[in-house]
Amino acid sequence: MTPALITETKPEDWTYISEGGATIVFSYRGPHNVQFSDHVLRLRKVTHRSSDNTLDIDTEQPDDPMIAFQENIISKLVPSKFLPSLVMVVLDEHWLRSLVVLRDGDRPAGRRQMDQIDVHRKKGVLATDLIGGLSIAMEIKPKWGFLPTECHLSPETVALKTAVCRFCMHMSFKMEQGYVGTAYCPLDLFSCDETRVRKALDALWAGWYESDGSLNNLRFFVEGRMTKPDDDYLVQSLARFFTADKSTDLQNLRESFASFLAQALLDSPVLSLLSTLQRTLDILDIEGLSKLYTQTLPGFPCDGLGSSVPDPSMEEWEDFVKVYQSDYHYWNHTIPSPGHLRHYLMAYLLSATFKDCSIIIRPKSAQIGSFDIKIIDMDIKRMNRLGKWEKLDRQIVEYYKSSRSQRRCIDSQRVGQLGCT
Ligand SMILES: [Zn+2]
Repeated sequence: MTPALITETKPEDWTYISEGGATIVFSYRGPHNVQFSDHVLRLRKVTHRSSDNTLDIDTEQPDDPMIAFQENIISKLVPSKFLPSLVMVVLDEHWLRSLVVLRDGDRPAGRRQMDQIDVHRKKGVLATDLIGGLSIAMEIKPKWGFLPTECHLSPETVALKTAVCRFCMHMSFKMEQGYVGTAYCPLDLFSCDETRVRKALDALWAGWYESDGSLNNLRFFVEGRMTKPDDDYLVQSLARFFTADKSTDLQNLRESFASFLAQALLDSPVLSLLSTLQRTLDILDIEGLSKLYTQTLPGFPCDGLGSSVPDPSMEEWEDFVKVYQSDYHYWNHTIPSPGHLRHYLMAYLLSATFKDCSIIIRPKSAQIGSFDIKIIDMDIKRMNRLGKWEKLDRQIVEYYKSSRSQRRCIDSQRVGQLGCT
């Protein structure tokens, strides 16, 4: 199939939707086009500091790895009905520069200061537009849906890490640094218990409202545009959708939202699937992984966990998925074998992909209570992140210990001491 060329559209045809740490997303609003209508364009970003270290513009660049990663790896673990379609699109530097001029002002100021579209990329990703063309769509970033098992935790961390979830500890750490906080606990959302799922959704709404839409755990899109709590049109759209009497009373709306979405999430296998993948892939915790790494490679120049390990090729990822779906579950994870180090490192990276993804929930039709749920943003994580995650884990736990908080997060899916038998 001939690849789509972005130059067949005008930069004006694309509107800014949202962005994460690595990518930025635009939605097609131009004249009908078989390849572009109902699609979003996902572009890679580059920090201002590194934007001068451009890729050699004359070399052939590979396709965005996100496409092959989803096609070859993620689709083996997640049924395709929960995934958006992804295809490659050929980019053009002049076109991308025009897009920056047109749309950079629509980005949040904090993001604009840090990074920009990588205009030297020759290939981007076209994905199913899960947000546009509909009255309303919601994005939830659920984050870590499990508590770690005890056996690989140190005596200093075990009591804390098995009582408080990673997200709640991290949130507390961020709030200390001045970030806007939220009372949301992922373990409530992942609990499969209606009261707790509603509590989680209620907290997500409160966080969204109190942060003026700046927290990224819940986002609302109306007719393809990300909206903030002070947007009257959003409130009216939510009222039309969620309430019988179209009441725009915010308390009413919050309750209706939590009630309808709780049902949609309880009826769907998506959260259970994500939680199982996260917990079985991160079976050693970063502490156990770090111990195995230093045991296996003693005396290795160590600039942090995973620093001396090359990133896996796509073939290695494919082999890993085969192992994960067979032998992995029979390994003795209590005493991990040094021979399995590379697989454990890869498992942790893949777990991080599922900890960092989002779900898009949108109505199937105007009929209330009928929703379609898709999982998005499943990008490959790299080995050079492991060292940073290990350090962050230590910082978060040390801070949380010093705060003397008495919080408890309940992991309802925890089966005995998984992996410790
Ligand atoms: Zn929690």
